[in-house]
Amino acid sequence: MPSSNEQEDREDKGSAPVEFGGESYIGGNDKEKLVEKITTAKDALTGIEVIAERLKLTEEPIEPKPCPEPIEPKKWRYAIFVDAGHGTLKNGIHTTIAGMGRYWTHKQGKFHQGTTFYEGVSNRILAEKYIKRLEELGMKVVRTYSDSDLSLSDRVSIINYHHEHIQEGLTLSFHSNASPGHDARGIEYYTTIGETTSDPLAQKIWEETKIFFPNFMRSQHHIDGDADYEKNFDIIFKTKGPAVLLENFFFDHYEDALLLMDEEVQDKLTEALVKATVWAQENLQQ
Ligand SMILES: [Zn+2]
Repeated sequence: MPSSNEQEDREDKGSAPVEFGGESYIGGNDKEKLVEKITTAKDALTGIEVIAERLKLTEEPIEPKPCPEPIEPKKWRYAIFVDAGHGTLKNGIHTTIAGMGRYWTHKQGKFHQGTTFYEGVSNRILAEKYIKRLEELGMKVVRTYSDSDLSLSDRVSIINYHHEHIQEGLTLSFHSNASPGHDARGIEYYTTIGETTSDPLAQKIWEETKIFFPNFMRSQHHIDGDADYEKNFDIIFKTKGPAVLLENFFFDHYEDALLLMDEEVQDKLTEALVKATVWAQENLQQ
């Protein structure tokens, strides 16, 4: 059966559309409309000419405005030292000097290599996401890690050298947790024993992360009123400036490991850390 638009169909195939004023006119069907459009456009042009003529007579010549001063990039007080714990996978080989305990083979699921989850790989994924965001904000970032597993003393030296000779900074060390029974879950943040400027930083990170993961926040509130756990890990104890060690979920727990693989979860963890870092730039004293 022929369609009621047979005429249009034929013309559509036979001649190219004519573009005018953002509309498409097909063939010669809308000649009248086209003429009307042209007339309207001519009127508009005449109007512009009249206005231009009037401006010429009445206005002073327009001086070009001087270029605005170039905007100084925000001067952040701190460099951000980013540490990612343990080695990673390089050509399928696990580059770690820590030995056992830094990976876990789950009974199921798809992780970094088959069903095996490597903490160092996950730490680097999160660290790199965090770094990307900080660099977008114009912050100075110093990595303490590479594809290999640098010794703790080397990583401490990198931070302290930069802190003393180039720019003061604060340290975040990326880790994920494991438990003896492989049954613990959640997020813990560590500072050194006692009260330092690291404590308000850890507290802020904890609060920002809690917004996204209210059911996963582990804390030691009952001991000293702070949410953070306290232990003198080298990377936070021997380094200068505020420093927090992050234990993002338990990689030997299947459900937590799945969360760590989830890009949305990674982005939320990153978001919380970035917010806390910006806060620290404005509020934290060394
Ligand atoms: Zn670790």
